Amino acid sequence: MDIIHLLPDSVANQIAAGEVIQRPASCLKELVENSLDAGAKRVQVIVRDAGRTLLQVIDDGIGMSEMDARLAFERHATSKIHEAKDLFSLRTMGFRGEALASICAVAQVEMTTRRAEDETGTLIEIHGSDVVRQEPCVCPVGTNIKVSNLFFNVPVRRKFLKTDQTELRNLLTEFYHIVLVYPKVAFTFVHNDEIILELPAGTEKQRIEAVFGNPKKNFYTSAFVEIKTETEMVNIRGFVVKPESATRKAEQYFFVNGRYMRHPYFLKAVLTAYSGMLAADYQPSFFIYFDISPEAIDVNIHPTKTEIKFADEQTVFQILMASVREALGKFTLAPTIDFETSGSIDIPLPSHSPVARPQVAVDPNYNPFRTRGAIYPDKTPTNWESLYSGLQDTRNTGIPDLPDTNIPDSCTDILRPEEVESCPLWQYAGKYILVPAANGLALVNQHRAHIAVLYAQFMEQLTLTQGAMQQLLFPEILALPQDDMILIGQLLPDLRAIGFDLEQLSPDSYSVQGIPAQLANQSPLPVLQHIVHQVRERGADTQREWREQIAFALAESSAIPYGKILTEVEMRDIITRLVQTGSYRRLANGKTITSLLSDEEINKRF
Ligand code: ADP
Ligand code: MG
Repeated sequence: MDIIHLLPDSVANQIAAGEVIQRPASCLKELVENSLDAGAKRVQVIVRDAGRTLLQVIDDGIGMSEMDARLAFERHATSKIHEAKDLFSLRTMGFRGEALASICAVAQVEMTTRRAEDETGTLIEIHGSDVVRQEPCVCPVGTNIKVSNLFFNVPVRRKFLKTDQTELRNLLTEFYHIVLVYPKVAFTFVHNDEIILELPAGTEKQRIEAVFGNPKKNFYTSAFVEIKTETEMVNIRGFVVKPESATRKAEQYFFVNGRYMRHPYFLKAVLTAYSGMLAADYQPSFFIYFDISPEAIDVNIHPTKTEIKFADEQTVFQILMASVREALGKFTLAPTIDFETSGSIDIPLPSHSPVARPQVAVDPNYNPFRTRGAIYPDKTPTNWESLYSGLQDTRNTGIPDLPDTNIPDSCTDILRPEEVESCPLWQYAGKYILVPAANGLALVNQHRAHIAVLYAQFMEQLTLTQGAMQQLLFPEILALPQDDMILIGQLLPDLRAIGFDLEQLSPDSYSVQGIPAQLANQSPLPVLQHIVHQVRERGADTQREWREQIAFALAESSAIPYGKILTEVEMRDIITRLVQTGSYRRLANGKTITSLLSDEEINKRF
């Protein structure tokens, strides 16, 4: 008996949905992108229960004909490309024709849509790929699509969803990525009947201010220099923060041809331009927009990925670095430039020969609807849900490649508690503590060692909820953007447990009346911002993870700095407590604490 059979479309779509629609935020992204592709000037997003119950997007775009309204939900149905070569000249956000098919496979969708030239619109209702209703209706020009009970038929996927606060944060993050590149389109975002963001049409600068600016902290509004560079290969424009306005928590955004992208290599270019200008641990905020021929980039990678390949990354790196450096240089000569008054800076760069035919890898066999592995008759299609169970949350952990600590794994017990209590200790270069060790000389980074010690201590206090508090003489106001307010709400019990006295003042601020006693000499706002930044960057969803991030951020904020001269008693205290923590090699973020200069290496020198 033959055992291979084709899956019904509805099942194939559900499987594909597992890749395209991983959470409410990915659904929102697809819907809003469709509105923008349809030329909308105004887009309203209405969300209930972080998208679990309802995700609705209303636009005033071109709408769809009766026929198109039905076709839009078929897989591979798109109006945006016709043939493979169109992939090389994409100017729309969507092109795969898989989003609506995927969404309607895993939710209950109701859509009304009308084109300007039609008198009546179309209403269509689809539950889990089944069309349950299609009829003419009266509705405004544009499209109104309502996605209810996402994953109602995929219990496994529903279980993957995080808390409402986390999912709402994901929705907002996705929303920011889009609204920052469409300043001319007006957006609103409503969650559980509360207007969270109201963004009028305006310039890029106004949009950035509307999203992140906050009247109580002139953090984003006054601190930027404009960059603008035009070359034959690429145009780069945007805003970068003045070095002295860098913060521990930065907003860093790259966009290419109207699309958000992550690009660690270009991030390095920006950071290199700032090198020597930033205090340790401080990060520059920036909003950088690239315009490049669509032929010179490859966006045809996974639908939910935000990495984009450039044909000639090295050259773009150089141009970007020069551009940022030049802008910062001009700024230091004319320190009065600020966000409001900055003129654009054109940098004469060597002109490049026309872009060579780019090597863009398109996989013609790429099929987002491919099944994961074979499906056999005994695993009937109703079992397809189990296909989700292997999907991992692929969020970046923020942990960089581990540098070599220079201690072979075979060397256990480099530092032994009994020995470090009495051995001689030296401080070197205001930065390292030298400790005679089992097989050589251990070099211990004093700042990181202290972070490890404090981290262990804060973790213990958090677990026992017994942080000591120091009352502030003058309460300070912590003002935060919406998504961070949600985040800090999640962290509140732990922040209080460790010794912060925080009261919510308004929808976007807290008053800080007390801080952990160990931080008594610190100003509380940078510390809290650092915590929020850490949690957001590293990602944390469980209480355990929040605590780890809080403890780590506090430890980073209060550890002894480089350059501090230590007495022998202080050094011994740090080293003994470090050894007691049991992990003296690396910090939780992968950075090396202890490096070993082995006896062998030392002897070789003589
Ligand atoms: P893609 O965007 O990749 O083409 P989708 O599944 O997201 O695929 O959408 C399928 C098609 O439905 C689009 O190509 C477009 O023609 C139409 N469409 C979807 N949303 C809208 C909208 N809001 N307004 C007008 N047309 C839309
Ligand atoms: Mg689309």
